[in-house]
Amino acid sequence: MNTHNHAFNEISVPLPREVDSEIAGDIEKESVFVSPFIDRIFVQDGKTARVVCKAGADLAEVEAKAKRFLEVMVKQVSGFEIKVFVDTKRKDTGPYFRGVNDELVKRGWMHDYGKGQVAYSGPVLKLAKLINDKAGELYASALGAKDAHFPAMIDADTLHKCGYFDSHPNAVTFVGNVVEDFDAIEEFRLANSCSEGALLPKQEHIHIDGMCLNPAACFPAYPTLTGQTFKEGQCFTWLGRVFRYESRNINGLDRLYEFNVRELVFVGDEDFVRDVRKKSLPIVEELASFIDIDCQVQTATDPFFATVSAAKKFWQAAQEVKNEIKIPALSNDGSQKLLACGSINLHGNFFGKRFGFTTVNGEPAQTGCVGLGIERWVLAAFTQHGFDESRWPEAVRNIIFR
Ligand SMILES: [Zn+2]
Repeated sequence: MNTHNHAFNEISVPLPREVDSEIAGDIEKESVFVSPFIDRIFVQDGKTARVVCKAGADLAEVEAKAKRFLEVMVKQVSGFEIKVFVDTKRKDTGPYFRGVNDELVKRGWMHDYGKGQVAYSGPVLKLAKLINDKAGELYASALGAKDAHFPAMIDADTLHKCGYFDSHPNAVTFVGNVVEDFDAIEEFRLANSCSEGALLPKQEHIHIDGMCLNPAACFPAYPTLTGQTFKEGQCFTWLGRVFRYESRNINGLDRLYEFNVRELVFVGDEDFVRDVRKKSLPIVEELASFIDIDCQVQTATDPFFATVSAAKKFWQAAQEVKNEIKIPALSNDGSQKLLACGSINLHGNFFGKRFGFTTVNGEPAQTGCVGLGIERWVLAAFTQHGFDESRWPEAVRNIIFR
């Protein structure tokens, strides 16, 4: 939590209805996107929202905005029965390690830039590579997945086609450039030639032409499939670089702005796609057993941005179209939490229709994907085994600590 010296003003707003802890958690997390004048919103007893405002806030305006946000958030459906598809238990009997991020920095294995990006080396890098390589090998041997590579930037039209602005408009990052104007470029150059820190170009001298940083590993794959006909199903796999603007929610390896995802995309008819989803479950299980961690795959209800969350949540849970890979880890206060370390998704023919690729009978092809958040797997593994090498499985420690 913020410990600035600003005078904080608080407003209490009764929630339109009582909410459970799942929705309360979503409200608190999404609250950083509500207003520049709101620091955070906390939910008390499931009944009241405590809106912490920043100095200079127009309280009446802030209250009205907070109420509109809460109105939408309480419409979320929650409390679905969670189905568990995979449940691995580690053999290591030692305690979970608290404060992994700090320890990694202390050992010089990680550098935290403080804005949701990290650099890493040594055992952290070796473990990240090991998890990525192992997943790639399993996808190749079990599914015949072919290697691919995609860029880290993506254009807004593709994101629009993927429906991303509907579901997560708050998480998009647009890339800006200095306008193609000699005077503007010269002004920017001169201003910086003698300044202490970086001076950004004036707002009117920056243009945003629609390039974005890719926020979901599989998106750049779909435009490359346009016009193709899939006689047989196909699987592709790669390591994708992903960016999600998290505002003030960033927190070490728990929640990064920029991270890596080992992605698997499968394309074909409905039977093929369902079959691959089924085969992906034991692969996740094998990966978790290989590094010896507690891990679950369960039905997901991940938070979408407020206004669409109610419908999306219901759809996901009802259809079991989204499964989440949840790995136990520790919160900053030491309590156990389930870290979402990846997801398994069925998209139906959504992308086949939008990007125009089909099965042999001319129908839009179906797709699915599995994404593994590499840095979160690393965090979970260090949390569950700590820093005593002997607690790590032999095959892993012989690689990462050498
Ligand atoms: Zn995906």
